[in-house]
Amino acid sequence: MDYRKEFRVEPGKKVHLGRIDPGYTGKHESHEKAQPEIREHLERMAELQYLLYANASRSLLVVLQALDAGGKDGTIRHLFSGMNPQGTRVFSFKQPTPDELAHDFLWRVHARTPGKGEVVIFNRSHYEDVLVVRVHKLVKKSVWSNRYEEIEHFEELLAQNGTTILKFYLHISPEEQLARFARRLDDPERRWKISESDYSERELWPEYVEAYEEALEKTSTDQAPWYVIPSNAKWFRDLAISKIVADTMEEMRLRLPPTRVDLDEIRRKYHAAKRAQAR
Ligand code: AMP
Ligand code: MG
Repeated sequence: MDYRKEFRVEPGKKVHLGRIDPGYTGKHESHEKAQPEIREHLERMAELQYLLYANASRSLLVVLQALDAGGKDGTIRHLFSGMNPQGTRVFSFKQPTPDELAHDFLWRVHARTPGKGEVVIFNRSHYEDVLVVRVHKLVKKSVWSNRYEEIEHFEELLAQNGTTILKFYLHISPEEQLARFARRLDDPERRWKISESDYSERELWPEYVEAYEEALEKTSTDQAPWYVIPSNAKWFRDLAISKIVADTMEEMRLRLPPTRVDLDEIRRKYHAAKRAQAR
């Protein structure tokens, strides 16, 4: 199955989240049956990330957005289980600090983008500035409505500089969110995740959907596509995302860099060291 075709938001197309089934799991019957495939994607990712790091000429940026309890943290844990911590970073965007608010909205984001050879995952992102900021009217419409274009230009700049960009919206149903909230209440291990605003934000679900739909429509481009990932089933979410990431990295045509040293010279030094050690 080509999840990139299936879940990609086509540039310029309308998005109706209500028409996308968050419980979709494709032809897969269960986590157990999908497990070998998931493992295969993770192994491919590990190999490709090694090449990306060794090559140090390109980079990968993965943007994760979702409503509360949408599964961003779980996705990050899963994706990184297939990568070497060397050369990877995750950054979580919280409410902006006064210093950040004193700058344009992309200032703090640009500073966190991946350098050559790196994989960076954004847990929330510059998209909060057309989502939470819009829903809570933190700035005027005339300000946030310009941001779609500003975001597109920003992402184009990153892409032209060698960054491959993937953006995932983790699509869950309100029922699944409430079930996850219940688990947080019941399970002492999960209680730390409960936030004061969970239920007040939940009441704004329709406003968030509207804001997400517009963001997905206006900022899905060939260079920085959005994918709407059915995420009620965590294992399917992990399967789809790891496949899209691995397939995309494969297309980056990553190769080991050529050796920069004179190998005959290095071999000579090695044998000299070997002889010295034997003495
Ligand atoms: P969490 O991801 O649960 O740790 O929460 C981080 C909080 O920061 C969320 O409520 C976000 O909506 C909020 N946040 C992130 N970026 C922004 C932003 N640019 N403006 C306002 N709030 C933000
Ligand atoms: Mg939260």
